[in-house]
Amino acid sequence: MSRIAYVNGHYQNLRDAAVNVEDRGYQFADGIYEVCEIIGGRMVDFPRHMARMQRSLRELRIAEAMPLASLKIVMEEVVRRNRIDYGIVYLQISRGVAHRDHGFPSPEVKPSVVVTAKSLNLAKNQATAERGIKVITTAENRWPRVDIKTVCLLPNVLARQEARDKGAYEAWYVDAGGFVTEGASCNAWIVTKDGKVVTRTAASGILAGITRAVLINVLEAMQLKLEERNFTPDEAYHAAEAFVSSASQIVMPVVSIDGHAIGDGKPGGIAKRLRAEFHRFAAIS
Ligand code: PLP
Repeated sequence: MSRIAYVNGHYQNLRDAAVNVEDRGYQFADGIYEVCEIIGGRMVDFPRHMARMQRSLRELRIAEAMPLASLKIVMEEVVRRNRIDYGIVYLQISRGVAHRDHGFPSPEVKPSVVVTAKSLNLAKNQATAERGIKVITTAENRWPRVDIKTVCLLPNVLARQEARDKGAYEAWYVDAGGFVTEGASCNAWIVTKDGKVVTRTAASGILAGITRAVLINVLEAMQLKLEERNFTPDEAYHAAEAFVSSASQIVMPVVSIDGHAIGDGKPGGIAKRLRAEFHRFAAIS
């Protein structure tokens, strides 16, 4: 079955789908994106993803390309046309197409909207979660506005490749103060030996993950203690557990950081419970 993409009003075969070479997303990374998990053909936490998407657009002064209700229809249609049962839907909005000039186009141009979707292998993801993943740390080198979900992901690309080159799955950034910020495409968490679940505050240095926000609700319901604070790689090496969160991985246990086994070197009990409980707390549209 050929995959279908939505590009600026048209549903097209993915292999033919294209944006203009003067699209500002292509030339300047002048755009934003969102990724929602699909379960049973339905989008997970759509309202929260859309609220973050609208905030990203506002922060970059990109106009809303279409009403939210229409965007929802388009995203659902892409999921339906690609017959996704379990997977992800990807939305990208750029400032639009204009002759190359760093300043915003004047007069304003229509933002470009692209939606794609792909199936993920649930059994494979589950097998990865049962093994756990390896993480390395790397120096934070992104711009300070990582709270905006922009397509400007070159540092993240390089960090992920550095992890792969070192035989790991993900890289955690460490800021100038020596504290972990987040992963190349996920939020970072540890569990202390006395059972406290620790993650950096969303106030600076990270993207406010939607999965992270839902997990905070799950923790409350499970009466687990949350500490939103900074932690160092050294604290993480000696933690009882570590894990990452994102829409495409939900909760993925971390079993090694920079070659240090975490806990007993196997996925931790709290990470496993959070992974198992997550979808009871997520909004499925
Ligand atoms: N941090 C970064 C840098 C990300 O790219 C992502 C997801 O892509 C996240 C955190 C997790 O966000 P969410 O849970 O909304 O997927």
